[in-house]
Amino acid sequence: MRHECARIHSQGLASGQYVVSKTVLLIQDEQRDALLVQELLSRSSDEALQVHWVRSCREGLKRLTETGHAGAPPPDTIAAVVVDLFLPDSRGIETFERLYALAPQIPILVLSAAQDEELARLAVRRGAQDYLLKTHIDEYLLPKTLRSMIERAANADALFEEKERAQVTLKSIGDAVISTDVDGRVTYLNTVAESMTGWSLQEAAGRPLEQVFRIADATTRDVTQNPMALAIQENKTVGLTSNCVLIRRDGTEAAIEDSSAPIHDRQGHVTGAVMVFRDVSMARALSLKMAHLAQHDSLTELPNRILFHDRLIQALALAHRHHHRLALLFLDLDRFKRINDSQGHAIGDCLLQSVAKRLLACVRSSDTVSRLGGDEFVILLSEVTCPEDAVCSAKKILLALSVPHRIDQDDLNLTASIGIATYPDDGAEAETLLKHADLAMYRAKDTGRNTYRFFEPHMDRHTTERISLESGLNRAIEGHEFILHYQPTVSLNSGKFTGVEALIRWRHPQRGLVLPSQFVPIAEEFGFITAIGRWVLHEACRQSQAWRAAGLPPLRLAINISTVELLEKGFVEGVRAILREHGLAPQDLEFELTETFLMRESNTTAAVIKSLSDLGVRIALDDFGTGYSSLSHLKRLPIDTLKIDQSFVSNLATDNDDASIIAAVIGMGKGLRVRIIAEGVETREQLASLQKMGCPEGQGYLFCRPLSAHEFVQLLSSKAAESRPPHGAAQRYLPDPCG
Ligand code: C2E
Ligand code: MG
Ligand code: MG
Repeated sequence: MRHECARIHSQGLASGQYVVSKTVLLIQDEQRDALLVQELLSRSSDEALQVHWVRSCREGLKRLTETGHAGAPPPDTIAAVVVDLFLPDSRGIETFERLYALAPQIPILVLSAAQDEELARLAVRRGAQDYLLKTHIDEYLLPKTLRSMIERAANADALFEEKERAQVTLKSIGDAVISTDVDGRVTYLNTVAESMTGWSLQEAAGRPLEQVFRIADATTRDVTQNPMALAIQENKTVGLTSNCVLIRRDGTEAAIEDSSAPIHDRQGHVTGAVMVFRDVSMARALSLKMAHLAQHDSLTELPNRILFHDRLIQALALAHRHHHRLALLFLDLDRFKRINDSQGHAIGDCLLQSVAKRLLACVRSSDTVSRLGGDEFVILLSEVTCPEDAVCSAKKILLALSVPHRIDQDDLNLTASIGIATYPDDGAEAETLLKHADLAMYRAKDTGRNTYRFFEPHMDRHTTERISLESGLNRAIEGHEFILHYQPTVSLNSGKFTGVEALIRWRHPQRGLVLPSQFVPIAEEFGFITAIGRWVLHEACRQSQAWRAAGLPPLRLAINISTVELLEKGFVEGVRAILREHGLAPQDLEFELTETFLMRESNTTAAVIKSLSDLGVRIALDDFGTGYSSLSHLKRLPIDTLKIDQSFVSNLATDNDDASIIAAVIGMGKGLRVRIIAEGVETREQLASLQKMGCPEGQGYLFCRPLSAHEFVQLLSSKAAESRPPHGAAQRYLPDPCG
């Protein structure tokens, strides 16, 4: 490559100093001519051209190739050659051709005698830059000719370099490049463009771009406007065509992204356009997949909360415009947590998939079924004319879900509770509708599950509270927020304590003391009850043992158990272990089960009750009289105690039927040899009536309210002290035998 400004070590006719200059290689055997050239160039007012003079063709060729020649310029700094074609060792056109063959990139100026002008012209035709007649050269013409030669050669070099750089870039980049002329005919394709379009540059050149580069919208399949035509037309860079596919020569397709820019000539006129595009099939497929994942539930493939929300908003906008109705069905599976815990998560997952399938089968394709998470689904019915349409769908869904789900050779039974909210009646906003359908679902749960409920405005407050309790239960055990209160059972004859019932309370950080009726059903529904029950059992056994150790009179400990706990795998073993841990005999423990639960899950519960009884633990039927258990049923179970529900006791004075029921239960208890305890004894009148009926034991505020462990121990101690002289605290309330 040439250096326009070369720092060379110039000798010979030149000054012999380091200068910034261009070297001209002068090949001339005539000393007079050589000196003239030197003279003319040194006189030039411009930057001096250094001259390196050699006398023969051989020497000239040597200078053009060899480096390190003492006193000679490096070959790559020679900017031009001035040559006399007639030299001692080479004559005529041959002189030119030898030089040109060796260094075609260096401009050659032929110095010629007038009679050899024809030969000089021939040299120019063969590639020499120019010729001058020796007789015509002067201090103006020679430097000017040389400089313009050198400049032209430098420009050609630069252009070549530029072109080369562009070519290499175009060949090596990963993007495809196509260019066209101003009429949209293909002028260039790089290798990537060739392989992407299926057209080689040779075949494509001159064809209309639309033939080589066919693009369409990926979704609508409409032919997309060619970005290059637009770039030419509007004379500006045109950005990416979105969602566009390239249809290759063989008909296959690739997702692409492109951008085009016009090409200008020196006057700024558009002469064509260039387009860069790349295959984004992978990236687009990936982004589609990611979009799908972001909007769908991976387990059921149903739209997730995000996508559902979008669809609901769209549906609401449409419904608003066309005055349509919409219905939202909020569905929650009943006691799903229990299935998940007892059968394992894999079965739980299969069950959720089965539910998703059935839900889809129950609705129209225009409806949306979505899984919000856990066992919560929501269904958007977009074509409802009246609320009955929603009822129809809800019933259909409940029926479909109630058919046993076959999973892993097992038939699993499942029910669901559905809350319904309709647009516009129950709300105009997506969030409101969802919330109201959710509240209605909670009401469906409260009313016994496996059913549906419409939203009603009063549900709002009640259920919001319930939801907030549910979230608090999560951390209540770790947060030591539960405590136990203790209430004694009392012998109605002697006034002595016959036992003590542990009753749980929740010291809620914001709400204060929360009673079990407010949170136990929620704990059962959301699967917290097992952990809570376990805590109760530990804590009550520990406390009971501590009292014994302190020398207080031993009392049988009654603990309330929910059927959910009872059905937990390993429940009986757990009880045995806890008793052992605290050193309590099974006979000192009584489990209270509510009659209603007992009736609902008769077979399995009966087996567990039997094992508990075998272990030695006593069993009490709590709230007896409210659950309509049959006598035969009672006979079948190893029941030790019946606790007459407090509603009978409270109506004792006013309701004869209740009095007769109590009397019957007392009689039956005696026949079956079970303990009878009347719950909720509040007044002396009630006590008197119970005593008259021969009820052996009671429990209630009249004798003692549920007390904290600390208060209860004080009561026990004082009672133990009082019992030495025969006057118990509770005895104060017993009717005077004489009065
Ligand atoms: P329950 O087992 O029938 O307990 C008796 C309920 O009646 C207690 O309510 C007690 O405070 C209340 N009570 C006692 N004497 C009287 C009275 O003279 N008049 C009136 N009106 N009420 C009286 P509490 O403590 O609110 O418990 C309610 C229910 O919650 C219990 O009914 C029991 O079924 C359940 N429960 C309590 N503790 C636990 C527990 O640790 N685990 C489970 N699973 N359930 C529990
Ligand atoms: Mg109880
Ligand atoms: Mg009770």
